[in-house]
Amino acid sequence: MSTDPSTQQEPTTGSGTFAPDPEFAAGAVARADLYDRAAADRLGFWAEVAREHVTWDTDFDEVLDWSNPPFAKWFVGGKLNVAVNCVDRHVAAGNGERVALHFEGEPGDTRAVTYAQLHEQVQRAANVLAGLGVRAGDRVAIYLPMLVESVVAMLACARLGAAHSVVFGGFSADALHSRIDDAQAKVVITCDGSYRRGKPTTLKPAVDAALAKGAPSVTGVLVVKRNGEAVDWVEGRDVWWDEALAAAAPVHEAEAFDAENPLFVLYTSGTTGKPKGILHTSGGYLVQTAYTTRTVFDVQPGRDVYWCTADVGWVTGHSYVVYGPLANGLTQVIYEGTPDTPDKDRWWSLVEKYGVTVLYTAPTAIRTCMKWGEEYPARHDLSSLRVLGSVGENINPEAWSWYRRVIGADRTPIVDTWWQTETGAQMIAPLPGVTSLKPGSAQVPLPGIVAEVVDDAGEPVPHGQAGYLVLSEPWPAMTRGIWGDEQRFRDTYWARFPGRYFAGDGAKRDEDGDIWLLGRVDDVMNVSGHRLSTAEIESALVSHPDVAEAAVVGATDETTGQAVVAFVILRGGHEEGPGTVAALRDHVAKEIGPIAKPKSIMVVAELPKTRSGKIMRRLLRDVAEHRPTGDVTTLTDSTVMDAITAGMNAPA
Ligand code: ATP
Ligand code: MG
Repeated sequence: MSTDPSTQQEPTTGSGTFAPDPEFAAGAVARADLYDRAAADRLGFWAEVAREHVTWDTDFDEVLDWSNPPFAKWFVGGKLNVAVNCVDRHVAAGNGERVALHFEGEPGDTRAVTYAQLHEQVQRAANVLAGLGVRAGDRVAIYLPMLVESVVAMLACARLGAAHSVVFGGFSADALHSRIDDAQAKVVITCDGSYRRGKPTTLKPAVDAALAKGAPSVTGVLVVKRNGEAVDWVEGRDVWWDEALAAAAPVHEAEAFDAENPLFVLYTSGTTGKPKGILHTSGGYLVQTAYTTRTVFDVQPGRDVYWCTADVGWVTGHSYVVYGPLANGLTQVIYEGTPDTPDKDRWWSLVEKYGVTVLYTAPTAIRTCMKWGEEYPARHDLSSLRVLGSVGENINPEAWSWYRRVIGADRTPIVDTWWQTETGAQMIAPLPGVTSLKPGSAQVPLPGIVAEVVDDAGEPVPHGQAGYLVLSEPWPAMTRGIWGDEQRFRDTYWARFPGRYFAGDGAKRDEDGDIWLLGRVDDVMNVSGHRLSTAEIESALVSHPDVAEAAVVGATDETTGQAVVAFVILRGGHEEGPGTVAALRDHVAKEIGPIAKPKSIMVVAELPKTRSGKIMRRLLRDVAEHRPTGDVTTLTDSTVMDAITAGMNAPA
């Protein structure tokens, strides 16, 4: 959809802003002068950041080579080993006894892994992979749940200069096969199974099925023993991880690789279409993930206990479970299971147990907790929390305020971080201790990042008007392309506004210049000539006391062009009554205006979500327009769509 989005309505803003607490600000990592330094000399700023956060075996001699856009080279001439930066150097600095990972299994088993232990595990795993023929430049597929071994496996690949391709452990054999095939992986690392909702699951059968479809590139399968479920075994191909590691040499001499050596390929969540294999390289990626972890979460190694709830199967798990936190030498929590096992207070019990100071999660999780009710967090002492983060989708002002009040005791800063698989690291976010926070807005480009909101012609739109979010200057962690598809890379991101990166998201700046994300450009609706944003109507619906979650799409309509169709989940304890739908429609009219009033509202039990928890609006649009649903390979639970389709087609 093109056309000028400038007639979009005002966002439903939350009430007021939150100035930094003076005591927090006094001790904060971030300083306001970062913005000035970066604005005065952007590349000089990144060079400083690069030397401060990363240990280089060979220093770089050029910060950015942008002579062949859209293919950037950052820190040209620099050499480093990413795994050494995440592990070895902390041990060398005398912090080997610090806990790197507090693992908590779903059944309640625990394991604390120090940096020294992680160091040994990564070296052994690197030796095992090398023994299976993995060399720098190869790809390794990792199909694992949240285990210590998942982190070790990723770091072992990085240590060898081989790129990993992590495939979320809940994906089907088909999805796994297409990813193994696309990346031409040499080895697959998996496990027998895991635990989910109190029950053992299996992963190895999906690997067997994927490889049975034909995967000639794969010569070995490493199998972690997690839950003891029986597995089929292919002699000569399958190797037990623990046996191989035990037999391997404990020391591995790490080599330094070029800053542009591929680090990983990762497929996007597929919210807007078929997933894309996004390529990231080493130096720039590590620099920006390390720098943003430290500044945006205000962390100090040795003091903070950090917990990012993301799975390693998606980009947040790469940048903010593995590379960013470990490059900073942090102590963190990783948790295998679901937030409601054995009960809906599991997360909060973990915050209390480990004294978590920084919690980074997704709006979908926050809205789920809102739906469950405040009694669950109330069971636990959450006073250790200092900073709360959000990523993945718009956080509605309502959810933001709940997060701050109920989880953050009306005290902690909340950082709403906008970024993508493609950007590799956070791009737009407030800085705790510096920025006055505004519920529902991601606010400002981070120091060193240049973002604009433009119209169809690529001109910046005035404050208050909606447009397209673009990134006008290259950044260190930017993707280096779509694996094996240069043309799709150029077409998707660089063709719309030549020289600038088109993010695919709608946005606006408010009167203070703060950025509000408005949803996918594909999702923006045109109702009787008015441009309406899905994000804003969803926020209006969620601000109604009955509503926990909402998804809004535009469906083709004979009279209005498009009509607003909404799907809502009610909060715990709220039943749909005869007046519910009418009340919600009126509420939207009051919050935004009569034009935004949904033509239809359907109360549902679940919304279709990707494995990373994002609402898949394109599927809801298919339903609303009575089409067969599109690519559902990344959907968590396909029965959700069947229920919604049935409800949609049922006579009113
Ligand atoms: P695909 O590209 O395959 O459609 P995807 O875009 O969902 O999938 P990701 O890279 O995981 O895959 O998600 C990035 C997108 O998530 C952003 O483009 C944006 O739409 C949304 N997003 C992430 N963080 C935020 C945020 N803080 N506020 C609003 N939206 C966000
Ligand atoms: Mg995307």
